Amino acid sequence: MSKLQRMGGQDCTYYIKKRCTRTKSPEETEAVRCNLLEARRQVGARTLDRLDRLKRLADPEDREVARRHVIQKNLDQITRLNCDIYVPQTGRGPLCVHQHLIYCLLLMPPCEGRCDHFLLRREHRANKGSCS
Ligand code: SF4
Ligand code: SF4
Repeated sequence: MSKLQRMGGQDCTYYIKKRCTRTKSPEETEAVRCNLLEARRQVGARTLDRLDRLKRLADPEDREVARRHVIQKNLDQITRLNCDIYVPQTGRGPLCVHQHLIYCLLLMPPCEGRCDHFLLRREHRANKGSCS
């Protein structure tokens, strides 16, 4: 007996590069965050905190020297951060081709074809409307 095949999910709102980006729970959403982006965010947050504490230095020259030191340290730390499977997007800064918003597509499940949550993309909905 021949097996019924599911239709592809390519026209689904949640479909991006063969992955399903539909969020199911806060825990799952947290688990698919881009690790590199998160690490950069943490370094950035620590840097801002250090810069904020420099305001307590009374001497403007001391403050400037310390500020430069903190910024250099921030750059060094950011540069050392890495992801083994990072692939840069050509000509678009430090973004990775696998990045979708703050998430990593590689950590998301593959779309196995149209499921109960299939939601037709807006542009296709508009096309359908204009054809009828
Ligand atoms: S592959 Fe790219 S998007 Fe995924 S965690 Fe690494 S840097 Fe982030
Ligand atoms: S069809 Fe289903 S599995 Fe595929 S992207 Fe849409 S919601 Fe996800």
